[in-house]
Amino acid sequence: MYKVTIIGSGPAGLTAAIYAARAGLEPVMFSGLQPGGQLTTTTDVENFPGFSHGILGPELMDNMTQQATRIGVRIFQKEVSRVDFSSQPLRMYVDGEEVLSQTVIISTGATAKTLNLPNEQALMGRGISTCATCDGFFYRGKRVIVVGGGDSAMEESLYLANLCQEVILVHRQDKFRASMIMQERVRRHPKITLKIPFTVAEALADDKGLTGVMLKNTETGELENFPIDGLFYGIGHSPNSSLFAPFVDVDDHGYIRVQNFTETKTPGVFAAGDIADPVFKQAITAAGMGCQAAIQAAKFIELMSEA
Ligand SMILES: Cc1cc2nc3c(=O)[nH]c(=O)nc-3n(C[C@H](O)[C@H](O)[C@H](O)COP(=O)(O)OP(=O)(O)OC[C@H]3O[C@@H](n4cnc5c(N)ncnc54)[C@H](O)[C@@H]3O)c2cc1C
Repeated sequence: MYKVTIIGSGPAGLTAAIYAARAGLEPVMFSGLQPGGQLTTTTDVENFPGFSHGILGPELMDNMTQQATRIGVRIFQKEVSRVDFSSQPLRMYVDGEEVLSQTVIISTGATAKTLNLPNEQALMGRGISTCATCDGFFYRGKRVIVVGGGDSAMEESLYLANLCQEVILVHRQDKFRASMIMQERVRRHPKITLKIPFTVAEALADDKGLTGVMLKNTETGELENFPIDGLFYGIGHSPNSSLFAPFVDVDDHGYIRVQNFTETKTPGVFAAGDIADPVFKQAITAAGMGCQAAIQAAKFIELMSEA
């Protein structure tokens, strides 16, 4: 039986693993189908402290993985397919085999929703982005589109309007789901214009990256070629939490609810990173929560051994 099992190998999981290993808890990690997590899909990361000239996402995650393995974390490139946290020890199932653990740190992340345009994956980081906080800086003084109609899209638009020359908010309906207060802030902003009711039908690119989009009027079907420097999706995220019901509570969007930092409703089960963070969704905040989860898991094990 393990003391600490970590599910997921992004910044949250790897930071938790480093702290747990250094506390002598011999953690194991199941890295899932995307070892290193979301940052392996991007190029420059300029906001993770410690790298004066920024660092490539895959390199940052490789460094974290090496740091973890050097201090003894055992990483299995496998996916957890089922869990049973109804009693101690906590149970997980990997390739049909049962894994037992005193504590579990869930750090399975959240996947950004996209429009699934045919060439979208190839253009991620080359004109298309799912994160204004992460990538907005690269579009200073440029013209960008934000897609979406909820609070996420409004927030992304307002954030980008501080950096960009112009932000065009594209939404497929002429009504927005976003709260009235956010809508008002967007409508009043001199740098934001609305383009409704339109969808992005196609991403146009040359060999350097995105050059524009083909917009489609959802009422008339009319197509419009629209040159643009950047395309940001503000259509929300899908937290990878379905595996853990009913042993954790989730909010309306599927984010795991935590209390007292990273505790879930099941004793010994902690959640860290994007999976439990509907607000910030940054590598540094994920890493911070991973640290908290590992320290809280260590405390839980200590209290268990005293009981
Ligand atoms: C294109 C892009 C660019 C970004 N740029 C930046 C940036 O510049 N700066 C910044 O701070 N943030 C950036 N972010 C956000 C940042 O990547 C996330 O906030 C961060 O990765 C969240 O870390 P995490 O550990 O919570 O989860 P993730 O990185 O999402 O990792 C989740 C992990 O869980 C694993 N997993 C899922 N299900 C299972 C399962 N059933 N069993 C086992 N493992 C499982 C996956 O394989 C993966 O390893 C970017 C995100 C994207 C998509």
